[in-house]
This record gives sequence, structure tokens and C-alpha cells, in this order.
Amino acid sequence: MPSIPSNKPYRVGRSRTGLGLFATKPIKKGTKIIRYFGPLLDSKKKEEDAIENKYLFELNDRWTIDGSVRKNIARYINHSCRPNAESDVKPRKRKVFIRAIKNIEPGEEINYDYGTDYFKAYLKPIGCKCAACEKKRKKQRAEARAEKARLKAKAERKALKKAEKLAKAEAKLNDKSKAKAERKSKKLNGHSLNGKHLNGNSHARVAGKKLAGRKRPPAASAPALQA
Ligand SMILES: [Zn+2]
Repeated sequence: MPSIPSNKPYRVGRSRTGLGLFATKPIKKGTKIIRYFGPLLDSKKKEEDAIENKYLFELNDRWTIDGSVRKNIARYINHSCRPNAESDVKPRKRKVFIRAIKNIEPGEEINYDYGTDYFKAYLKPIGCKCAACEKKRKKQRAEARAEKARLKAKAERKALKKAEKLAKAEAKLNDKSKAKAERKSKKLNGHSLNGKHLNGNSHARVAGKKLAGRKRPPAASAPALQA
């Protein structure tokens, strides 16, 4: 790791994606933290325009800083979509400074937004690992988990309801067949047969009705019964 003079408010340290730059002292919002520097590349020179690495900082159409040199400590600063610093570009002076846009506490990683072009070319294909994007992904994962749990609970409730309905229907069917069996057993015991159909009185009543149906005067039937 590169040595940094101890009066500087930062150090290089391990970050989630490799190395990063961390505050060692409180850094006030608006403070120039570090200069981003390196050889100037002229796009009008073919061999300079052909240089390609992840540390190129475009100043304007013509000039680009090649920040890949080891002495450029600012190259350790990682990108963040919600940064605490920004790149302050002075195209005329061909200089770039990293400036705090928030109060930064000791131990906090220093980040700035690399810009849309870099993001599209290098970060989007592999997925941005900045704290804001990780937090967003974590939230999305938690939401997906919650949704899955919700669907599972819903399916379980539905299955339970179905099972209950089935059990109810089965119980009803059992009751019916039980009742049927009871009725059948009663019949076999002879209660109902004796009680209704084999009852002599009832038989007589039927006969009486039949006789009455013939419009025989009641008086005429009386002597017959008496006899
Ligand atoms: Zn991000």
C-alpha cells in the first residue's frame, strides 16, 4: 500500500471491492481532499489517444488525465452512486480535485460519482458495488423474501381452507350415511313396520274409508258390525 504523509486526512485501506480511500480525520464539507493527477493525454496524438485504462479522467474533448500512476493516491477512491465527495474539474488549469460534499467522519470511505460514461462502461456490466447499490439490492432481496413468504402463507391458508371444507363435506356425508344406517336398523327392528303398516286399526280405517267410498249409508254398516 502506498505511504501517505501522516498530516493527510486519509489512508488507503480495504474496502468491499478491494482497496479504497478512507478518512482518518474529520473532513468538512467543501474541503479539497486530494488532487487527481497523472500525465496529460492529448487526443490529437494517436499513441496517446490509444491509451486505455480504468483511471482515465476526461477533462474535455482534447485532454485526458491518465491517473493510473502509482503516486496518484486519488485513484484509490471508489465510485459511489451516493457519494460524500465530488470531482472538481478545472479544464483550463487541466486539474482535478476531489472535494468533500458532506462532512466526512474518520473511518468513513471517501467516494465520488465517476459519471455516467464510466458507470455504463465498467460498473453496470458487473453490477455497482457501492454502499447505496448494495443497500438497494439488500432491500430488494428482503422484499423478494417477504413476498415469497407472503405467497407461501397464502398457499398454506388456501390449502387449510380446502382441507377444512373437505373434512366438513366428509363429516356431512358420514352423518347422512349414519342417519341412513340408523333408519335402516330401525326398519329391521320392526318398530316402524309394526307401528304403522301392520297396525290393525289403521287397516280398519283404510277399510272403513273404502267402504265409505262406496257411499253406503252409515246406518247400513252398523248392523254388519254388530253382527
Ligand atoms: Zn452504485
